[in-house]
Amino acid sequence: MRLILLGPPGAGKGTQAANIVTKYNLPHISTGDIFRANIKQGTELGTRAKAYMDKGELVPDSLVVELVEDRLSKDDTQVGFMLDGFPRTIYQAEALDAVLGNMGTSIDHVINIVVDPTVLVERAVGRRICKNCGATYHVSFNPPAEEGVCDKCSGELYQRSDDNEETVSNRISVYTNETAPLVEYYEKSGKIRTIDGLQDIDKVFSDIEKVLK
Ligand code: ADP
Ligand code: AMP
Repeated sequence: MRLILLGPPGAGKGTQAANIVTKYNLPHISTGDIFRANIKQGTELGTRAKAYMDKGELVPDSLVVELVEDRLSKDDTQVGFMLDGFPRTIYQAEALDAVLGNMGTSIDHVINIVVDPTVLVERAVGRRICKNCGATYHVSFNPPAEEGVCDKCSGELYQRSDDNEETVSNRISVYTNETAPLVEYYEKSGKIRTIDGLQDIDKVFSDIEKVLK
């Protein structure tokens, strides 16, 4: 199964991706996670990406497409994959179609998580992530049992440096201008399904399961 998770920053893509990859046993490909790992390792790609990420802007298409192309060439994606945060522009979507076309395959489902824009800033600013296993929490909406500590692995929770009000607001504008047109792009292929992301995390996942079965 080859999936794309679409939705604005804070919609719940990463949260649902974790549920989806566990149930369907798919590799989780998050371009944001790949950039953050590169920043942590101090690679050249990380340094270049960080300048854009800190401002809430998109990393240039050329860098992102090459990265995803390389990732999709790995053997573990033969069973399928879950793309989270990619594509984010029409250019990236067309490049993805071309890469998959060359591999003789295509996307099966695009899950579009829709959330009222007014909740996005609160969701992103309250997001906390485990340094060790990457699990996502929210200080109010999905808190860990013990503050600052991951339920799953006892790792330390941290706040992303781009999860501040100013950067999140810019990321939402960038989404509206650059990424939202992808909804129409994927409507043409008839593979896109809209999910109400304002529901509880478990209900959002059960709606996604209905689409995927
Ligand atoms: P995205 O990957 O789309 O940016 P996340 O999955 O990281 O979004 O979710 C953003 C924040 O909102 C996180 O703190 C997460 O715990 C919280 N969240 C995710 N889904 C829901 C939901 N259905 N209801 C309330 N909070 C949610
Ligand atoms: P995310 O983890 O998906 O919230 O992404 C964090 C940041 O990484 C974004 O604000 C962008 O700066 C960058 N990024 C992640 N994925 C992409 C992409 N597909 N295209 C361009 N920039 C991206």
